[in-house]
Amino acid sequence: MIVVLKPQTTEEKRDHLIAWLKSQGVDIHLSVGTDYTIIGLVGNTAGIDVELLESLEMVMAVRRVGEPFKQCNRMFHPADTVIEVGGVKLGGGNFCMIAGPCSVESEDQILEVARAIQASGATILRGGAFKPRTSPYAFQGLRFEGLKLLSEAKRATGLPIVSEIMNVNHLPLFEDVDIIQVGARNMQNFDLLQELGRIHKPVLLKRGLANTLKELLMSAEYIMAGGNEQVILCERGIRTFETYTRNTLDLSAVPKLQELTHLPVVVDPSHATGEAKLVPSMALAAAACGADGLMIEVHNDPAHAKCDGAQSLTPAQFDDLARRVRAVREALA
Ligand code: PEP
Ligand code: MN
Repeated sequence: MIVVLKPQTTEEKRDHLIAWLKSQGVDIHLSVGTDYTIIGLVGNTAGIDVELLESLEMVMAVRRVGEPFKQCNRMFHPADTVIEVGGVKLGGGNFCMIAGPCSVESEDQILEVARAIQASGATILRGGAFKPRTSPYAFQGLRFEGLKLLSEAKRATGLPIVSEIMNVNHLPLFEDVDIIQVGARNMQNFDLLQELGRIHKPVLLKRGLANTLKELLMSAEYIMAGGNEQVILCERGIRTFETYTRNTLDLSAVPKLQELTHLPVVVDPSHATGEAKLVPSMALAAAACGADGLMIEVHNDPAHAKCDGAQSLTPAQFDDLARRVRAVREALA
């Protein structure tokens, strides 16, 4: 980090600032020119409050040279992170199809969908048990019962399972869940992220509705700073002024994130578009731009789904899509 002081800054004020910066645990390289004085901060500057420095009367400009995220930064960890769960690899060239219903609704439903998506080549089963709904009157998920049914589907098929956590106190209920999902609405629930940093289980972190990639990476950093390095990032569309689609899928996030971080990046075209007929083209585009995987909502009876039926594919539609995704992957190889 570089701090440029205004020309008339007195030595006394400058030295006072330097002493304070050193007390924050960084080393200082001072460069005094005829017009400007530049203070170079060396070492771990992650804890330095840039806005506070910028607000000081004597400071003309502050430039961060490195990124504020360290553990997920590709610069310090060039090799792709590969996440392994129940014999399935994700990242580092290992493409992964995650599929399943928005929410677990019944034993028959989850078993039928699990068997269908497995037959089509999906290797991880998704299913929401605790649902973050905009309306308190909408279906909230089967909660613990939903997790039990998801476990049953895991036992029946051997597919590892992913489900969303909404409350940090629910963590013990997720014992049998292989990948814990943090939904878009909780991307910046820092208490939850910190708690997930203390466990040894992969976390699928979805990008918030109105969050930048830097904020997504800082949230991943929260989890990793606690010691849990198994984080999967998920682009699921962001809020823009567009209203014809549920969200706007930011596909450039995929190569940008892959440049910035070694963590796997998956794309969820279901929540990104909100419309089943848009899902295949966006899924193929995500595969074509190098995503490490896809997460797709599939329901055996979308018209009667308790949640997100409009964006859910039928098993037959998913089967067709999975085949085309494989063709795109082969074309890329
Ligand atoms: C989900 O995947 O079920 C979900 C609620 O997605 P998001 O958090 O991206 O809205
Ligand atoms: Mn959904």
